[in-house]
Amino acid sequence: MFDTDTQSRQGILQKLNTALESFYAETAHLPVSQVWQAASIRQKVQAFDFNQTHKPEEVIEAVIQGLTNYAVHTPHPQYYGLFNPRSGFIAAIADYITAIFNPQLAAWSHAPYANEVERYIIQAFGEKFAYPASSLDGTFCTGGAESNLTALLCALNHHFPNYRKEGLQSLAKEMRIYCSSESHHSVLRAAQVVGLGSNAVVEAPVNAQFQMHMPWLAERIQMDLAAGHRPVMLVATAGTTGLGAMDDLKTSAQLCKKYRLWFHVDAAYGGAMIVSPKTRAFLEGIELSDSITLDLHKWFSLPMGASLFLSTHPQILPQTFGLYTEYMPKKETQASTIDPYTHSIQWSRRFIGLKMYLPLAIYGWSGFEKIILHQIEMGHELRNQLQAKGWQIENNSPLPIICFSHPSLHQEHIEKILDIMIERGDAWLSLYPVNGKRTLRACITNYNTQKDDLIHLVKILEQLKKEYITAS
Ligand SMILES: *Cc1c(COP(=O)(O)O)cnc(C)c1O
Repeated sequence: MFDTDTQSRQGILQKLNTALESFYAETAHLPVSQVWQAASIRQKVQAFDFNQTHKPEEVIEAVIQGLTNYAVHTPHPQYYGLFNPRSGFIAAIADYITAIFNPQLAAWSHAPYANEVERYIIQAFGEKFAYPASSLDGTFCTGGAESNLTALLCALNHHFPNYRKEGLQSLAKEMRIYCSSESHHSVLRAAQVVGLGSNAVVEAPVNAQFQMHMPWLAERIQMDLAAGHRPVMLVATAGTTGLGAMDDLKTSAQLCKKYRLWFHVDAAYGGAMIVSPKTRAFLEGIELSDSITLDLHKWFSLPMGASLFLSTHPQILPQTFGLYTEYMPKKETQASTIDPYTHSIQWSRRFIGLKMYLPLAIYGWSGFEKIILHQIEMGHELRNQLQAKGWQIENNSPLPIICFSHPSLHQEHIEKILDIMIERGDAWLSLYPVNGKRTLRACITNYNTQKDDLIHLVKILEQLKKEYITAS
């Protein structure tokens, strides 16, 4: 029953293909967002009574309608939001292939090909970051939050070799983790999940460039040591989520060396700049880190969830996660094979690496370099266009993240303008506070966003500004 038959499968696929193709080709003609009533959506969802059966075509059609009508369309060229990309087509079909073959990525022996694909990607990305080829390791994660949690677990197991067995209860001192006030909150979450609690996280203030304030941090570490605490990890962010700030990685590395801290770089978004010789310098010092978070479902335009955790300590993942159980297939005895479940939080898991392997093999690094440079260029273009109309750029980032305001717009107007824009579905932006001031935040997250789209966006903003200034 679950298989149906060849003819029905082909019929379903054909219809599905038409529907998906129409979304993929026509995304730009849909409203980016709308205002929705939860009750009416719920009604649509619950229209299918599980005590009855329904035709597959009917249910699939309803799902496509639901996703088309009730979603912020992150794949839209006028979506300037929170790093959510348009999925590259090749990457998207990789997920379909994966779902059908459903290889089990817990043990090497169950899926040797899929495992070797993932190891190849881990190795290739590690070497891109100039990690030593012979001693790098890594694992695929569901997202940056899991990668950052993996980093904290590695840091704890690195400092306390019995941590895995004896846990937090064996630690005499209070642990300290350092990051900046602009760091992603998944660092706090990681501290909460491992049981240290968010009070263990020290958020350093930022300097005028919104980077972690290094002299403040150095002093704070000394104070913590004097107070009898135990500093374990420093998280520097390469591309903060709000403002696209790049923390000082070289000074972070020196500080970590001096105080023997695990040096983790959260490069979830900005790490993609490693693929181009033109932007690599912004990540200088990342090669000195103990570990890196790199989200592939952000700037690499893969469908969620795909993230890489990389480390220069080849033994730390097995030391942190390695287990032996009777029911798992025996470890493959061939040289250098790795069972992923001994390297990660996840156990049974999907073949995450295929959606990176397919586009990378087809388009090469140069293909990714092109889209990254294009998006950076579109960022500059938007800055120029905004400034030409008197808007003020409030942040300073090599990334296509632009926070801006206008001298004739009050703080409340900024929010109103955003609400109206989102309501009309013309474009999607977010708000972000800069030094306590509310600003509009636009991030070029879509490789299809072109100059004409930006001209259109600025036109919309100018129009709304006019409506607001005359209305008030
Ligand atoms: C997005 C982001 C994260 C969290 O990653 P998810 O993939 O959403 O789990 C962590 N750090 C930074 C800097 C991010 O931008």
